[in-house]
Amino acid sequence: MKPDWEGPLGEAYARAMSYLKDLPVRRVGPRDTASDLRAKLGGKLPEGPSDARQVISSLADNVEDGLLPSGSGRFFGFVFGGATPAALAADWLATAWDQNAGLYAASPAAAVVEEITAEWLVELFGLPRQTSVGFVTGAQMANFTGLAAARHAVLAKAGWDVEADGLIGAPPIQVLVGAERHDTVDRALRFLGLGTRCIVPIAVDGQGRMRPDALARELGGGPTIICAQAGNVNTGAIDPLDEICELKQDAWVHVDGAFGLWSAVSTPMRGLEKADSWATDAHKWLNVPYDSGLVLCAHPEAHRAAMSVRASYLIHDDEQRDALDYNPEFSRRARGFAVYAAIRALGRQGIAELVERSNAMAQRFADQLAPYVLNEVNLNQVLVRFGNDDELTRRVVKAVQQEGTAWMSGTTWQGRAAMRISVSNWTTSEADVDRSVEAVLRCVEIEQARSTQG
Ligand SMILES: *Cc1c(COP(=O)(O)O)cnc(C)c1O
Repeated sequence: MKPDWEGPLGEAYARAMSYLKDLPVRRVGPRDTASDLRAKLGGKLPEGPSDARQVISSLADNVEDGLLPSGSGRFFGFVFGGATPAALAADWLATAWDQNAGLYAASPAAAVVEEITAEWLVELFGLPRQTSVGFVTGAQMANFTGLAAARHAVLAKAGWDVEADGLIGAPPIQVLVGAERHDTVDRALRFLGLGTRCIVPIAVDGQGRMRPDALARELGGGPTIICAQAGNVNTGAIDPLDEICELKQDAWVHVDGAFGLWSAVSTPMRGLEKADSWATDAHKWLNVPYDSGLVLCAHPEAHRAAMSVRASYLIHDDEQRDALDYNPEFSRRARGFAVYAAIRALGRQGIAELVERSNAMAQRFADQLAPYVLNEVNLNQVLVRFGNDDELTRRVVKAVQQEGTAWMSGTTWQGRAAMRISVSNWTTSEADVDRSVEAVLRCVEIEQARSTQG
């Protein structure tokens, strides 16, 4: 059968262009409810074929009002980030080329692009030369992979082969991690069979940074992994990595730097290079489309010991890089193309500027919302709280989301409700910040008036 590429791909291109061009003026929020979407998209299982162009056109018609326009310059929810044109276009090509990037033999180009991108990343972050890199789906899987290498190494040192013998009967591992860690660390420990009870929570300061004095008190007992953080999801705070690494003794230090690691491209992060493994995302601050995470490991043999696989029907070339030696996946998307294009298009300077501009925009929010700010704004995260009131703060978050000028999400920070403002989009301008501040202040006024009316 002769395929018609032009019809569906032409339609997809036109729809993508109109969506992207509309982002700066589009309402920053979905219009449709779940039931609207079910009504538009549902129906009986299709029994027969449909024209591909028609399928794409009606898919776009039916979903567009249910999208959350997270690529908007006025989207400040979670830590999402948008997509730069080069990264988005390379990601399209990755789909069109449809390479299986697990093996060199399955895509020499994907393997070499990942090898080069890996070297660039190691240099960008200032990590040890031998550092190995895995291109994973996100920081969740990067934490999983880094902690799998850590599990291998600390148990090997204790004379235990975890890959062969598993964890039953193994020496216990303690994981020392800040009380304000990201939840994906706990989840990675569950996946790794270590469970969450191996966690020894380490006291943090008011910004969520691990306290070295508290860490020092827990060190010294058997196989130990320390899991530090560069960029707290609420405050943006970075753990004192230099002091943590000075204290570590025999422990393995993993750094969860999902977004914060990128700030090392602009401002040197003391002690970062002394850690053993790092997790970060390309789909957050680097503005690569979903999904794209990175794990980096200063001990390639531990990284490979934890991940590597050999199968009788595959072709392994010892001279070349097989991604499945560094990834939990087997078959996988050629994620490296988009990361390569992003770095090529921005360059080291462009990445540093992206980080600095986001931080400056966060500071602009903090200046204009000063009476409400809860955290020290040193990175791209701002926490605000209204009237020192959980209820009012949550209502303002909801009101801002419904108003549609900007989109922020809520959180609980050290027991108190707060609104999070995360500046992670490469297009966010001063005008975007000013319009968003006005919208927030309008909502505060309205909600406050409603409170006093009772
Ligand atoms: C976002 C985030 C994660 C999880 O990253 P995903 O890309 O969603 O898997 C982990 N740690 C921190 C600090 C984060 O901000």
